[in-house]
Amino acid sequence: MKSARIEFPSVANWSCHGCTDCCRGCFLVPLTEADQARLRSQGWTAADGVDPDTMFQESRGQTCLGHHSDGACVFLDAAGRCRIHAKFGEAAKPQACRLYPLAIHPAGDKLVVGLYFSCPSVVANAGKPLPEQAPLVKKLAALVVPENFQDIPPAPVLATPGEWPDFLRFVHWLDVSLTPADVPVALKLLRSLHWLRGIERGCLDQITGESADEILDALVGSVTEKVPAIPGRAEKPSRFGRLFLRLMVLEHARQVRVEQRRASGAHRWRMLGAAFRFARSGGWTPDLDKELKRVPFAAIETNFGPLSPAAEAMLTRFFRVKVQSLHFCGRAFHDRPLIEGFRHLAMLYPVIIWLARWFAVSAGRTTLTDADVAKAVSRVDYHHGFSPYLPWRTRLLQQREDVARLCAWYGR
Ligand code: SF4
Ligand code: SF4
Repeated sequence: MKSARIEFPSVANWSCHGCTDCCRGCFLVPLTEADQARLRSQGWTAADGVDPDTMFQESRGQTCLGHHSDGACVFLDAAGRCRIHAKFGEAAKPQACRLYPLAIHPAGDKLVVGLYFSCPSVVANAGKPLPEQAPLVKKLAALVVPENFQDIPPAPVLATPGEWPDFLRFVHWLDVSLTPADVPVALKLLRSLHWLRGIERGCLDQITGESADEILDALVGSVTEKVPAIPGRAEKPSRFGRLFLRLMVLEHARQVRVEQRRASGAHRWRMLGAAFRFARSGGWTPDLDKELKRVPFAAIETNFGPLSPAAEAMLTRFFRVKVQSLHFCGRAFHDRPLIEGFRHLAMLYPVIIWLARWFAVSAGRTTLTDADVAKAVSRVDYHHGFSPYLPWRTRLLQQREDVARLCAWYGR
């Protein structure tokens, strides 16, 4: 890959702290053909602690790293170190292991870098600023970004494809909307949804050049008057909106551990039972795992009060990293247009709050801690971009104005 300009999110730090979360439990690591050949050539034997017959496993037609019955990768040693890394160095590991939790996306003549918040160090913003790690990111980008990445077109803003500079203007103004540190995340999302609606209604998605910046500047500037605050008596989301929110919560709450994939029949029945309870919403939630217990739905639907400044800052960082790295539309998100992808991203706010409340109530609390919100963000981002996406659901939610209503309702 020719030398490409790399842009990092302006608000994120990360270094790997070796917690091994990504080497055990939920992640099935897909292997490229080159990965498989390299691992075979490394000559692993049972004497090294790796039975060569268990190095690979098949999952949905894809060859992945093997895992022990407790979910740990077969290359993870008892001290929590990667045997491949220890014996042959970082570059000898599978490509997906080397990349995680970074995500690198083409954006015209540059590359933008994002982060998965499923990594605890990303949620905690712990480590070095990403620009200091540019040489490593450049090396990894060469592995995954095609030579001709400049030819990849941007997603449409609404429906009609345009050019990268104009598309990136919309991304810039979305980021501007999400920036103010003294505005709650829910209100920033409501304002962003409001001006994007104006773009849609006025068919302004095709505006180009400097005049586009003037129009977007005016729209983003005036939205603070039009949406001055989260409505005190926010309109209740429709029954339909609340039903789809709960089903989205369930989708994002589940942690399918590697050992559960093996017992997939039993796991599927369990999830089907859980979906039934969530669809009804009366009575009690299912007992999903040790942190998401059986609790009354009504206890989650009470008002938990405002988030702490630290939780607001974490959520702002989450949404800004997703927007800056384009991890909400186009090739990075099911080839969806910018406005639709952003609506889905905004829906993650009520999903995160609902899930955080479920963590809190499961622990016997009626207020949220920052750790509840961090755990919710982490679980939600584990699924973002990987779980199947239902475009019709986002469209139906939007038609009933439930995206904004849900953000307002859970942001009160
Ligand atoms: S989850 Fe994050 S911090 Fe933990 S080992 Fe993986 S990359 Fe490192
Ligand atoms: S190969 Fe190494 S880095 Fe990758 S999952 Fe296994 S132990 Fe972790």
